[in-house]
Amino acid sequence: MSSSTLQGNGVVPGIGVGPVIRPRPRPHLPEAEDALGPAAGGERFSAAAAVVADRLADRAGRARGATSEVLMATSVLARDRGLAALVGARLTDGHGLCAATVGAIDELSAMFADAGGLMAERVADLRDIRDRVIAELTGQPEPGIPTPEQPSVLCADDLAPADAAGLDPDTVVAIATSLGGATSHTTIIARQLGIPCVVGTTGLEDVAEGRSVLVDGSTGEVILDPRPEMARERTAAAAVLREAAASWTGPGATSDGHVIDIMVNVQDGAGARRAADEPVQGVGLFRTELCFLDRDVEPTVKEQADIYREVFVAMGDRRVVIRTLDAGSDKPLSFATIKDEPNPALGVRGMRLGLRDEGLMDRQLDAIALASKDAVGPVWVMAPMVATEGEAAWFAAKVRERGLVPGVMIEIPSAALLADRIMRHVDFVSIGTNDLSQYAFAADRMASSLSRLTDPWQPALLALVERVARAGLDADKPVGVCGEAAADPQLGCVLVGLGVTSLSSAATAAPLVGATLGTVSLEQCRSAAAAALAAADPAAAREAAAAHLT
Ligand code: PEP
Ligand code: MG
Repeated sequence: MSSSTLQGNGVVPGIGVGPVIRPRPRPHLPEAEDALGPAAGGERFSAAAAVVADRLADRAGRARGATSEVLMATSVLARDRGLAALVGARLTDGHGLCAATVGAIDELSAMFADAGGLMAERVADLRDIRDRVIAELTGQPEPGIPTPEQPSVLCADDLAPADAAGLDPDTVVAIATSLGGATSHTTIIARQLGIPCVVGTTGLEDVAEGRSVLVDGSTGEVILDPRPEMARERTAAAAVLREAAASWTGPGATSDGHVIDIMVNVQDGAGARRAADEPVQGVGLFRTELCFLDRDVEPTVKEQADIYREVFVAMGDRRVVIRTLDAGSDKPLSFATIKDEPNPALGVRGMRLGLRDEGLMDRQLDAIALASKDAVGPVWVMAPMVATEGEAAWFAAKVRERGLVPGVMIEIPSAALLADRIMRHVDFVSIGTNDLSQYAFAADRMASSLSRLTDPWQPALLALVERVARAGLDADKPVGVCGEAAADPQLGCVLVGLGVTSLSSAATAAPLVGATLGTVSLEQCRSAAAAALAAADPAAAREAAAAHLT
């Protein structure tokens, strides 16, 4: 049988081969049901929701890190009083229990979807709760992923955190989904578990259970009925890389000794403590806004300092690049973000909130300065969503006043185009390729249907990176990349070839990036970069670069 290939976005590198398994289907709704009334019905709903919540909490207890956190959050959502009240209202109106449950969750999902951003992403969690509660109420098997009897490839539309949390990387050897992007739950969980993963795969829904597939998390390919010798070759090559990542001891450099800082992205002290075990040069992006997603009121300077200090202390004498609040759009903060903007990704987000409310920026910088007193290593501070030279100058003055090192993120094309002027004011820049591609291509970074445009291998994105890197070389100032592009080992080499000086990615991705870089010379990186820049599209860029990196 000959192979054919489906294309998606590779988000966790590695190879997995095996028969397809799929999550168990959603439970059926009963065709007719009695109206139980609010008292008896409410009691039965609460009991079923409690069983579901307990099971999720139990899995959270067995999972680790971000996986455990999302599971626990879903468990808490299952017990939400607002949800029970919505069910109660429908029971009072005379609905049956399952109909009331479905209706209530649909209403809550619509509210979450309207709120947008991270709230909208929780709609998948709500639907997952709905299915589990219905299964419990009607005595059907719990929906979710079957336990495979042999190493298998999990294929799905998208994964709910509850599905993904119990995955065992020894039996689920790869994941491929039809939906999802670089920031979806599937990606986060697969990266954490180290399971090769491809998301946004066109045509995957037609692949039947049991069919043999090969998932290549580097190239984004899902190969149907792979030839055994090709599967063996790819698996062997991936094993060599995995081994290299495990034995990588840093520091980051090309094979001929060109030094590149390999850094990690973190969002709190716990993440920094885990990352500190890796032989990385420090934190290249501390996303502070993620510490405060659940806050209604702005945390005090002391509260903020206590949180930031944890990260500084965890990293010891290594550098920490801390980013001021990037609130808004996909990361709304109720105490900072403007509500009801018609187009929040293009609205008052990131540093624009600090320009509008200077006190918000000042208090955060005071907190960073306070926490930095306990830092042993250097603390660099950068602002997100900087669009102009004037904004960079405004921010840099504030950071310098506090004795800290200022930088800005380059994630808006206007800043990339005038990076040389921006660099007159700051000591470093870091390129946020996630937003830079979103704004360069006018394509929502969360939309999997547009992921061919927001693919970080797009030659136009690479051209913007090259321009910024050249400005950095001219000014003799560091230029990092901290967007998801830096998590792709091959693309990391290309970015180095374009002139960037540091690569920052999730702690599970960074060692492979460092190890891969150690196998190629600076000259190879430069030729790979030139070839990728000259390519017609992302697929051609990948292929052209690969030819120079072997
Ligand atoms: C980016 O835009 O690439 C980036 C690193 O910032 P965030 O993903 O937090 O928007
Ligand atoms: Mg960004």
